[in-house]
Amino acid sequence: MPRYGVLGWPVSHSRSPAMMRAAGLQDYQRLPVAAGAFEDTVRALGGAGFRGANVTIPHKQAALALATSASEAAREIGAANTLTFGEGGEIAADNTDAPGFLAALGDPAPASALVLGAGGSARAVVWALAQAGADVAVWNRTPQRAEGLRALGARVVTGPVCAEVLVNCTSVGLDDLTSPFKPADRLSDYPTVVDLVYRGGGTMLIREAEQRGIRTVDGLEILVRQGALSFTLWTGLPAPLQIMRNAVRDTGMKTRAV
Ligand code: NAP
Repeated sequence: MPRYGVLGWPVSHSRSPAMMRAAGLQDYQRLPVAAGAFEDTVRALGGAGFRGANVTIPHKQAALALATSASEAAREIGAANTLTFGEGGEIAADNTDAPGFLAALGDPAPASALVLGAGGSARAVVWALAQAGADVAVWNRTPQRAEGLRALGARVVTGPVCAEVLVNCTSVGLDDLTSPFKPADRLSDYPTVVDLVYRGGGTMLIREAEQRGIRTVDGLEILVRQGALSFTLWTGLPAPLQIMRNAVRDTGMKTRAV
């Protein structure tokens, strides 16, 4: 039976094992690996029977660096979240965060977006939106960091601008006490609000948007969509989306926060 897993540090909170096992990858496990051991561990996985691995914080850039081939998305974003191991020691890197985000958003892709944050997830989101033809504005607490996203097709703003979609790519909201966007009444400037952050019980941003009748997409749907694309890369099969959704949301009910 081919083996699969999720590489991260820490990775104990990951919902990917529950989601991928429910999808049919029965031998999918957590692979907690510290940065210093990442390269040696990943190079050994193919020989140990692994067919694929997802990659999460803090290893997405390192995963791309050690791959023997990489997709255009992974190269341009500068990070890989999906590795596929070949029989001859090949390691193929891909990035399903970007197309997974667009899939979660649905068709048609928006014409404009305001992205909050300029870290790793923002890079994938900006790249995806720009590839889809959207006008993408980035607003980050540290404006200098946002400058790095110009090369991916974003413009940098220092305050909120109206757009079809507001996307939270900051880590604010994990605690349920804070929202990355204030005042909440200004959420009505955005027909769709997306939060990459997810936690058991939902985030304040998503709740405040729902209370105003705004269409929302939460971080669990984005998790499912990127996982579904990894599943298809490895197996060649369509992913059982609803089974995967049920699995991550069941886990969420038992977990207070992630
Ligand atoms: P990251 O690279 O560490 O970037 C964090 C971003 O948040 C930076 O732009 C940082 O701003 C900003 N930030 C942090 N604290 C802030 C505060 N108090 N006020 C304003 N801005 C603040 O993290 P990431 O990898 O992009 O991930 C961000 C979040 O998305 C995490 O919670 C992660 O779990 C989640 N995520 C979810 C999925 C999914 O599938 N749903 C996928 C990827 C990531 P500065 O530059 O000023 O420090």
